Amino acid sequence: MAPYPEAVKLARGIRDPRVREAFCRVDRSRFVPATLQSAAWEDHPLPIGDNATISQPSLVAEMSAWLSTTPSARVLEIGTGSGYQTAILAGLCAEIYTMELNPDLARTARARLEALGFQNIHYKAGDGAKGWPEAAPFDRIIATVAFPGKPQALLDQLEDSGIALVPVGPDGGTQSLMRYRQVQQSYRSEAIIPVRFLSLR
Ligand code: SAH
Repeated sequence: MAPYPEAVKLARGIRDPRVREAFCRVDRSRFVPATLQSAAWEDHPLPIGDNATISQPSLVAEMSAWLSTTPSARVLEIGTGSGYQTAILAGLCAEIYTMELNPDLARTARARLEALGFQNIHYKAGDGAKGWPEAAPFDRIIATVAFPGKPQALLDQLEDSGIALVPVGPDGGTQSLMRYRQVQQSYRSEAIIPVRFLSLR
């Protein structure tokens, strides 16, 4: 299957060839509502219902790179939304565990990802603020919904040397995309860029 030309343009800034490849093989139009098809590849977020948005595609590509994935990684994702970020991660990693609070969004995303043939995704409709303890530990954790402060419950579910990428900050304000790395029982954290995500509900 050829890469999507619109995606190739959006992924220009991505240096990691694995991430570029995974990003360019997912058709964003499959994750965008029927009424917004003409805008499917525009580089901004689009509404998907219940105040949620499908993230800006260039940011999805960058976040996929900042997560430093490996092919054997087990990944926890909080905020399935449309399932677009989930699909890209599923092409990069071994197993994805994705959580979505809104049952309608969770159901739609699952049906869509199953129709696209993904078989390495585990779905849970529920509050992702406390993570998915039964499936922990994870090599990587990514949230596409903002946490009000340090996401300790998620960090507790990281494998040794694991990495978590989580937007942290106030509802409706500017948040920092934080990258946490587990190093010998403690966490190194760095703020990568300012972002604006929907906050945890
Ligand atoms: N990555 C998604 C966008 C996610 S938007 C995409 O590319 O489409 C953020 C999502 O987080 C929304 O779907 C929202 O319903 C969900 N969410 C909000 N609070 C949550 C919570 N407590 N637990 C899990 N998901 C939550």
